[in-house]
Amino acid sequence: MANRTPDCEIYPKWSEARFWSFIRSALRKAYSRWPPKFDALKDARRDFKGTGRQKYEFLCAECSNWFPQKSVQVDHKIPAGSLREWDDLVPFTKRLFCSKDDLQILCSDCHKVKTAEERKAAKEKTK
Ligand SMILES: [Zn+2]
Repeated sequence: MANRTPDCEIYPKWSEARFWSFIRSALRKAYSRWPPKFDALKDARRDFKGTGRQKYEFLCAECSNWFPQKSVQVDHKIPAGSLREWDDLVPFTKRLFCSKDDLQILCSDCHKVKTAEERKAAKEKTK
């Protein structure tokens, strides 16, 4: 198969890439329950005074507007980066499970812009 990464040494039925995608998704799943993430959200919220069922609204650290929870993301100020080999595991895990101070709340639009910039920067680095 063209462009396939080498076989995973531990489990040759998988490619190396498939293995790392498995590890990444396992760590991201754990991160979804990472308490500092919820603390960061709590710190950025205030009671919503409008009508309806919405209880809180959240401040975007970038554009300083208020949004419902479904429209904000908890962002890593320093992106967790890539996880494609064993040497990436420690730095990736350390950045992913960071303290509350290294997280910020961004609205979906600001998050999209930041993610696009980070992707671009990561590409420049590998050139
Ligand atoms: Zn924003």
